[in-house]
Amino acid sequence: MAQQEDVFKKIVSHAKEYGFVFPSSEIYDGLSAVYDYGQNGVELKNNIKRYWWDSMTLLHENIVGIDSAIFMHPTIWKASGHVDAFNDPLIDNRDSKKRYRADVLIEDHIAKIDEKIDKEIAKAAKRFGDSFDEAQFRATNGRVLELQAKRDELHQRFSDAMNANDLEGLRQIIVDQEIVCPISGTKNWTEVRQFNLMFKTEMGSTADGSMTVYLRPETAQGIFVNYLNVQKTGRMRIPFGIAQIGKAFRNEIVARQFIFRMREFEQMEMQFFVRPGEELKWFSQWKEWRLKWHKALGLGDEKYRYHDHEKLAHYANAATDIEFQMPFGFKEVEGIHSRTNFDLSQHEKFSGKKIQYFDPELNESYTPYVIETSIGVDRMFLSVLCSSYEEEKLENGETRVVLHLPAPLAPVKCAVLPLVRKDGLPEKAREIVDELKFDFATHYEEKDAIGKRYRRQDAIGTPFCITVDHQTLEDNTVTLRERDSMKQTRVPVDQLHALIHDRVSLASLLRKLR
Ligand code: ATP
Repeated sequence: MAQQEDVFKKIVSHAKEYGFVFPSSEIYDGLSAVYDYGQNGVELKNNIKRYWWDSMTLLHENIVGIDSAIFMHPTIWKASGHVDAFNDPLIDNRDSKKRYRADVLIEDHIAKIDEKIDKEIAKAAKRFGDSFDEAQFRATNGRVLELQAKRDELHQRFSDAMNANDLEGLRQIIVDQEIVCPISGTKNWTEVRQFNLMFKTEMGSTADGSMTVYLRPETAQGIFVNYLNVQKTGRMRIPFGIAQIGKAFRNEIVARQFIFRMREFEQMEMQFFVRPGEELKWFSQWKEWRLKWHKALGLGDEKYRYHDHEKLAHYANAATDIEFQMPFGFKEVEGIHSRTNFDLSQHEKFSGKKIQYFDPELNESYTPYVIETSIGVDRMFLSVLCSSYEEEKLENGETRVVLHLPAPLAPVKCAVLPLVRKDGLPEKAREIVDELKFDFATHYEEKDAIGKRYRRQDAIGTPFCITVDHQTLEDNTVTLRERDSMKQTRVPVDQLHALIHDRVSLASLLRKLR
């Protein structure tokens, strides 16, 4: 675990050193849980967004996109339930003055018990070797059974308290389990209080009578309130979907783990409108499609798992998370929710407008049901970054830091490098750049020894380096070096385009989704 934390620290500093992610307002000592994307980060982020957008809007003829405003009529947040219920339970430690989410303190405590169970299993697996039967061990080992019973009981108590919004119950769990503050090490806790996560601001001048508006905490509501517009103007027929990418804001109580939990972040959400009664069929379909989208990136199938929700929001009738193995454990990257007709019905009620669909096949009108897929761009970015980072030991004893980014997502697709800065090689290299730059993000670099330049490109995940040498001037061939294998091949300049395209095009990734 400590080793993993070390790796994570290295990834965070790598992200800064190579222009991926900077702390916000750094020269003023930063702003907590807000980050800026640098020159390479913005490209990687845009490529992730393009992959998602195209997979939704190009591959599904019944999904279209919108881009709604961040500010919306405040009644929307009343209707959606966010004004009254978008809360986290918070608790303070009186000694350290640190504030925590009560539910997270308990979840972390449960995770520690899980770790203990895993340790027992790992120990036994080592002892028994090939003959080890994990299921049997779990069912019979006294220590594991005892830990598991303790865990299950605690989990049940926790779920009950959360479902009942029982703040005193949550506090009692913290007291009974003797959970201490990680900073002060004491159990000197305050009461648990509800804290609304929405940011507020004023719209209009006070003289006119200003109005309190919210920075949207999710992009989904912009889709719901435009449902009728899109359905009518696009002549959409159910089932159909509306996709949107945009900023969302949450005043998170505890911001930690770098860009995993931010106060300003970006979401990619798609609401799929279906017939009542067909929602669970579509829910499993979208569960499958979304996991396939993740796995197509080749980051490692074993790094994903579903986590079905036990505690369902009052409007949902099924919900699952796609979790990814981050250096700090399996964490939610995407949520897939069957939201029933809750949101549309609420907007119908609060706005007084009829939001119904006339189904010509059934010859009846109804409020559509909704399946939502909601993924955080920044969390997706983090999962790609973490799983691509490697400190690779080379045969010659050296170490290189390489980002094995999926080629279509890489900020720079190829770098053109003249071997030396004379003899017409820079001019020839520029000629190649001028050919490739229309289709691929292409870098030109002539400074430093060639080995050093390769390393710099490895560190930002550039899939190909093209080296121009004296032979290039004679036979119009170059060396094409591949990032992961470091294999170098001599290829004619006129084949470069096809060779690069084959590996880096987004289409090659999208084809895997068929
Ligand atoms: P969590 O339980 O981690 O707070 P959530 O269940 O509240 O997340 P949703 O409301 O389902 O998250 O939001 C959908 C997606 O938006 C999440 O899967 C995540 O990728 C992203 N997301 C949510 N909150 C944040 C945040 N503070 N920073 C970055 N991404 C976020």
